[in-house]
Amino acid sequence: MNTFPLLLASALMLSACGTSNGQSASKNPTMDNNNQYDHSTNPYYSHTDTAKLDVPLAEWKKILPEDLYYIAFEKGTERAFTGKYWDFDGIGTYACAVCGNVLFRADSKFASSCGWPSFFQPERKDAIHYHADNAFGMIRTETTCGRCGAHLGHVFDDGPKPTGQRYCINSVSLDFIGKK
Ligand SMILES: [Zn+2]
Repeated sequence: MNTFPLLLASALMLSACGTSNGQSASKNPTMDNNNQYDHSTNPYYSHTDTAKLDVPLAEWKKILPEDLYYIAFEKGTERAFTGKYWDFDGIGTYACAVCGNVLFRADSKFASSCGWPSFFQPERKDAIHYHADNAFGMIRTETTCGRCGAHLGHVFDDGPKPTGQRYCINSVSLDFIGKK
């Protein structure tokens, strides 16, 4: 009986196994089941400290999940209707996912058909900063976190009463803090 084919098959299987050395996981934190990352490695994160931060981008890049860094500091935009909060109406507040700065109260959130979480006013005046944004041939107002400078989204003047404003914010940029 010729056992050569069997031996050959075994050898092939062994070599196939040998190539599956798992790649080392990224060092950056990733989102947990609640779509929030582990803030324990982020020493700047606070819901109460409103002092301005001046953290180098290289430092944020080490601390933040990749998708958050992309939106916060490379001015990315999540795809409409894909974020965790566009269709969410929990009671509580929303904070900047980068630094924890409290940005919005849930009672200023409204159902918008745009596909991103939408609010009609910030939690306090200086929670958010505003910048003219003429990218992509549009005249828009960019919103950034008043504490850490992270890009959040844009504000438009087609919102509901009482302010008439629509803060259109990336879900990735927000951490929801439920009422305890
Ligand atoms: Zn922030």
